[in-house]
Amino acid sequence: MKATKAKFKFDGGIHPAYHKELARDRAIETMPIPALLRVSMSQHLGAPAKPLVKKGDTVKRGQCIGEAAGFISAAVHAPTSGTIKEVGTAPTAMGTSAAFIAIEPDGEDAWIEGLEGIADWQNADTKALIAKVAAAGIAGMGGAGFPTNVKLSPPPDKPIDTLILNGAECEPYLTADHRLMVEHAEQIWTGCQIVRKVLGAKHVHIAIEDNKPEAIAAMEQAMEGADDDASISILKTEYPQGAEKQQIYATTGREVPSGGLPMDVGCVVENVGTTLAVWDAVVNGKPLTERVTTVTGMPVSEPKNVLGRIGIPYSDLLDFCGGLKADVAKIISGGPMMGLAQPGLDATTTKTTSGLLFLAPQETQTFRSMPCIACGRCVGACPMYLVPAELSQMLEAEDYEAAEELNVLDCIECGCCAFACPAHRPLVQHMKQGKSKVMLKRRQAQKK
Ligand code: SF4
Ligand code: SF4
Repeated sequence: MKATKAKFKFDGGIHPAYHKELARDRAIETMPIPALLRVSMSQHLGAPAKPLVKKGDTVKRGQCIGEAAGFISAAVHAPTSGTIKEVGTAPTAMGTSAAFIAIEPDGEDAWIEGLEGIADWQNADTKALIAKVAAAGIAGMGGAGFPTNVKLSPPPDKPIDTLILNGAECEPYLTADHRLMVEHAEQIWTGCQIVRKVLGAKHVHIAIEDNKPEAIAAMEQAMEGADDDASISILKTEYPQGAEKQQIYATTGREVPSGGLPMDVGCVVENVGTTLAVWDAVVNGKPLTERVTTVTGMPVSEPKNVLGRIGIPYSDLLDFCGGLKADVAKIISGGPMMGLAQPGLDATTTKTTSGLLFLAPQETQTFRSMPCIACGRCVGACPMYLVPAELSQMLEAEDYEAAEELNVLDCIECGCCAFACPAHRPLVQHMKQGKSKVMLKRRQAQKK
């Protein structure tokens, strides 16, 4: 099995400064469990989980403390053993408010009894494998948070022939997925084969950008002896190479239609971290209670890739990285392109916290938005073939019908248009706002 260059290249995209050197070569470090963990019930796309415990209860690691509340939802598990100190509501890193469960660890870190893996997963029933993934509460760890068991259950009229394992990690600064591939390639490859079996996918592409040669080499070694339908696709380093639709095109040449999903073209895309969690759930029977987060940025004393329990306060994560050595102008949960600015360090980690980024004053700029000069750069940068300049003007004028006709809902909020715009137009903000208005209008129309 040889790694080969991806056959196709999506249109648009940008080349921001990547700054991955800050944490790329830092081996994953396990963080001690902090004094308090605050576990959100809303760590996934869909309905928040329903708390199953109350103040004063004791829990074990891996115990389900929040049950999935519907088809698109995910269970939440205690990240360690301890006592429930509070069940309440608090702001999240996403800027919303959600129920949380605070756990005071007892220091034992004892797993709940009865967790069992499926050693012979190769011959296991597909439904049993999906049930394991659902019971483990796995949701897309690349950032989207879509419940993985749902992704593994496409409708019968949407057969999947291609599984793409997303190891692109195209967001600047972030290196968690890179380290996972370097350090856990074999487990990721096993998780990938489990997902492939569940989906019945003939082809597998492991998609990695060409700025991660170590990760490519590690995956190549792990996949030694793999069949001819499994390959590594080396992608050109370009943002947003990790976006689902762009990655499907780059690896297969298939275009997901406007308003469509990867399964419409026979594909499923899974993040490498998610696949590692699938391996742990199926082979070891362990629910998702921890993840790797890149804590990085020029002002951070020791940028690191931190393996930490879910529910760690951001302030504790920063302390584990030696605190700050310089002034900070901006804190971002996630990467600089698609992450969310934070007002402080009160939020806690979730299943989707890929990074915690600190930017120095010299790395941030405040712009005054100017009128559009019709230069067309945003159109050239948009990987979704949209016309951001025109959409932005329609959305400013609150003409949501026209924006819907121009496919505003296809916007993946990648930020390429705003990055390219010399007039510093708030294009992504307009798109986000426009999408939510159009969705609201659709929901209201459905209720009538
Ligand atoms: S944010 Fe939306 S409109 Fe802008 S480049 Fe990305 S997909 Fe296109
Ligand atoms: S890049 Fe900015 S200035 Fe140029 S056309 Fe797009 S919105 Fe207008």
